[in-house]
Amino acid sequence: MAALPGLRVVRSRIHGYGVVATRAFAVGELIAEVDGVRWHADEDLDDRYSLWLGDDWFFDMLDQTRWINHSCAPNGEVEAGAEDGGWARIVAIRAIRAGDEITYDYGFTADVAEPCSCGAPTCRGYIVDADELPLLLQAM
Ligand SMILES: [Zn+2]
Repeated sequence: MAALPGLRVVRSRIHGYGVVATRAFAVGELIAEVDGVRWHADEDLDDRYSLWLGDDWFFDMLDQTRWINHSCAPNGEVEAGAEDGGWARIVAIRAIRAGDEITYDYGFTADVAEPCSCGAPTCRGYIVDADELPLLLQAM
């Protein structure tokens, strides 16, 4: 598979592999169109590298974007939808310099939250949607 322009997979300081920018991205700029396959919750597929598209639809990321790590203070954000066979793209929400690791907020629901090691000063301690954090803490 061809490497996505402007991105490179590396060992990450955050977790496992990560994706760094090889050039600058401006706020609002498209970082990548995600190559992936839409699947339905009934299908019981591997959801490890899948985005939630809404309702019971998921999008399995098949290119380098699957290695993008979570951050509680991300520089990217996912736009995605279940229509037209499913689609997703990563967009810059902060100015990104060459060498910066690309991140987005995974926004997990409380029931699938995981400990977070993103290192951001505003780290929530868990990979969980900000709105779901009280629910998670309550359940502990
Ligand atoms: Zn964090």
